[in-house]
Amino acid sequence: MTARQAKNPKAPRPVGPLDPEHDVSATYALDQTFVRRLTSRLVATSGRSSMVSAPATGQPLGQVPMSTPTDVAAAFLGAREVARSWAKTSYAERSAVLLRLHDLILDRREEIMDLICWESGKARIHAFDEPLHVALTARYYARTLKRHLEPKRRDGVVPFLTQIEEHRLPKGVVAIISPWNYPFTMALADGIAAIAAGNGVVSKPDHHTPLSALLGLELLEAAGLPVGLWQMVAGQGRVLGGPMIEQADYVCFTGSTATGKVIARQCAERLIGCSLELGGKNPILVLRDADLDRAAEGAVRAAFSNGGQLCVSTERLYVASEVHDEFVEKFVARTRAMRLGAGHEWGIDMGSLISAEQLQTVDEHVRDAVHHGARVLAGGRARPDLGPYFYEPTILEGVTADAACHADETFGPVISIYPFRSEEQAIDLANAGDYGLNAAVYSKDGRRARSVANQIKCGTVNVNEAFSATFASIDAPMGGMRSSGMGRRQGAEGIHRYTEVQSVATQYLLRFGPHWGLTDEAYASVMTGAVKLLRHLGRA
Ligand code: NAD
Repeated sequence: MTARQAKNPKAPRPVGPLDPEHDVSATYALDQTFVRRLTSRLVATSGRSSMVSAPATGQPLGQVPMSTPTDVAAAFLGAREVARSWAKTSYAERSAVLLRLHDLILDRREEIMDLICWESGKARIHAFDEPLHVALTARYYARTLKRHLEPKRRDGVVPFLTQIEEHRLPKGVVAIISPWNYPFTMALADGIAAIAAGNGVVSKPDHHTPLSALLGLELLEAAGLPVGLWQMVAGQGRVLGGPMIEQADYVCFTGSTATGKVIARQCAERLIGCSLELGGKNPILVLRDADLDRAAEGAVRAAFSNGGQLCVSTERLYVASEVHDEFVEKFVARTRAMRLGAGHEWGIDMGSLISAEQLQTVDEHVRDAVHHGARVLAGGRARPDLGPYFYEPTILEGVTADAACHADETFGPVISIYPFRSEEQAIDLANAGDYGLNAAVYSKDGRRARSVANQIKCGTVNVNEAFSATFASIDAPMGGMRSSGMGRRQGAEGIHRYTEVQSVATQYLLRFGPHWGLTDEAYASVMTGAVKLLRHLGRA
């Protein structure tokens, strides 16, 4: 037991690569040799650094060097150089790197989870989602990249004589800008598809959580990714975002809708593509025939995983009036039984929020809702006794339309419950507002639930599950409609976004245009006859 734990047994055990000589109560929680090893991979020459701290305890974790716009340019230059040869590697070579990454991540998952817990303050069970999701993504693209990328035959205009193939060429170097909430998976998973497609990457993790992303880069290189193909810079998005977009061939952004709009404008200016994975105000519908225990368990995970700081987490819960009271009783009981804590051990249900700003937003949303008439059924208060940014999992009812949390994303552990009388009304309520990221429908009748799902304007809908069924099914596209984003990660869309489509046609025998002594008019009439014939032959 360390000095800090002796003083405060609730303090997280100082797991991870620790310097045993250090008294962690007084100084850094992480071994600084480890931190320097990670940060040495950054392109950062400003001479300035920023302290990264553990949100759950306030302990310092390490100094992270800051990058400049000139560093961004150097990172793109470096990645572009290596990407030239990487684009020529075989599908099998790329696949082998990704499968080694898969194995390394699963083998070193404890170390990865330790660092994520330190850096984000989340509970270990939610940290586990991150290596799991990255491993699933690496294996999926390792196994499918050939299928997604190899040239496809298309129908030529003249059957047999026009042979045409669709090729997918890498874009070049992709910029990846990621948030703090899932600092390992958000920094890595989108980039895995980019390198699988033959691109280089320059990524910028959020300034709260660069170390988890850097550990991912170390693992990628340990798996055999050529050094320099994936470069990383560190700093504030408003400083480095513009220079990144200036150099990029494509931008993959995950973060808030407000920043997503800024990025979309900058990409439009350069006529480059972007995918934007943005915010949500995600609903759950509990239909009258739902298994209420299952729905209550799912709603707890949907609302409070990672303290609700999850793009696909639920903030609106619509319950059929026939089962409303019974469901609410079950949901409230489960929520009140949740264990909060700053420890890194298994068995804690919810950890800390990331920052003072997040805590303030959550607190303000709850106070404002109560001010406008809402009632608190569970939680509703900060827990400074556990750590600086802890807030209890909170259930509200009677939230009125003038409360901020009625339509705005809280991005915290706050959910509002509303009854509904008919499924049509529930669908209208689910579709209200600007967002369209994720939804869930609980019903014992799968067919009915899927019919409701099809009427909800969200990019993913889970039946009898909170969000994991869609998020972890890497073969299916994931992303938002409306203000929740543009483009999709995962599946074919998730890799095709990083490619340029090129059609290559080879023409045999026949030439286009009048020839063989035909006049223009005779040529036009032969072609018209041929086109009519193709229609009768059923050609597309
Ligand atoms: P944010 O937009 O403030 O920051 C996200 C990233 O963008 C960070 O790396 C930040 O440094 C960078 N950034 C900030 N301003 C920038 C600018 N002007 N130009 C370029 N980059 C800039 O978002 P946040 O508050 O840190 O993250 C939470 C938000 O992310 C929530 O709204 C959440 O719903 C969303 N999110 C969405 C998904 C998804 O898949 N749809 C996943 C996770 C989080």
